[in-house]
Amino acid sequence: MMKKITVFVLSAVVLLALPSLAQEFKWYKGNTHCHTLNSDGDSYPRQVIRWYKDHGYNFLVISDHNFITEIKYLDTDPNDDFLLIQGEEVTDSYKGTPVHLNALNAVKYIEPQHGGSITETLQNNVDAILLAGAVPQINHPNWRWSFTDKEMSQLKNVKLFELFNVHPDSNLFAAGGRPGMEDVWDGMLSRSILMYGIASDDAHHFLGEFAPARSNPGSGWIMVKARELSTEAIMNAIEQGEFYATLGVLLKDVYHTEDKYVVDVAPYKDAAYTITFIGKDGCTLQESYGSYAEYLFKGDELYVRARIFESSGRIACTQPAFPNKD
Ligand SMILES: [Zn+2]
Ligand SMILES: [Zn+2]
Repeated sequence: MMKKITVFVLSAVVLLALPSLAQEFKWYKGNTHCHTLNSDGDSYPRQVIRWYKDHGYNFLVISDHNFITEIKYLDTDPNDDFLLIQGEEVTDSYKGTPVHLNALNAVKYIEPQHGGSITETLQNNVDAILLAGAVPQINHPNWRWSFTDKEMSQLKNVKLFELFNVHPDSNLFAAGGRPGMEDVWDGMLSRSILMYGIASDDAHHFLGEFAPARSNPGSGWIMVKARELSTEAIMNAIEQGEFYATLGVLLKDVYHTEDKYVVDVAPYKDAAYTITFIGKDGCTLQESYGSYAEYLFKGDELYVRARIFESSGRIACTQPAFPNKD
């Protein structure tokens, strides 16, 4: 009897402790790339912010081309559930090929740096963004087929790139013998280059028709797992890869321990799910049906990441784990 009571008391203590543990982290919806009338967007910053606020976003980076849209007069309510992080799309090119990088959490304007090759142009801008105290994100590599994992694998001090920039010109999927963005990602990861994949909408068009050929907001974003909604907490989480990239699929949780990689989907109505665990050279390590899947590390994978495919056609990708490096 005594033993039973002890067990009961212990489990009650554990149960009481659990909710506070669960509250330590929350998922925040955010977009790291969009435009206003300060560059080639069609709306004022306040209208753009309003759109994201009205659609359940928790944070937003306005990234106008070679222009800092200052947030200090725009983020008027410090206590609401919405955070603005200042940014710029450092918009450069090499011999006519676009080389664009976002500077996340930029405090001041960063001038495009140019370079003697695509790789050098990328690196010079990465370096300038870091020197200015901001965080670099490589944008839309497949737009006009600008560069691939070949160039990106040579870069230093950058860990974020746009896996899914849903602008209609971004060429996200493999076709015609060209690599899709997941192929580009696997190309880098297979060379042991740690890169985290961002989804963004790169929205320009908030007015008029919402149509596939227009650059509208809302169909690609990241979900960030952070302790609180502050610039520091969100930026730290993004830099640590504590987020997933989604084109609409939502997860209850995703994490990995020493032994396994866990994906837990928040199912949409009666949608069906295939969860694929992917390793070196893009090989399928395991394919699971249903909204929950675990992959047990075997030890010989270089990396493990997951793709969640929903019967609606929507997908999400989670960040790579390098099981033997942790
Ligand atoms: Zn761009
Ligand atoms: Zn852009």
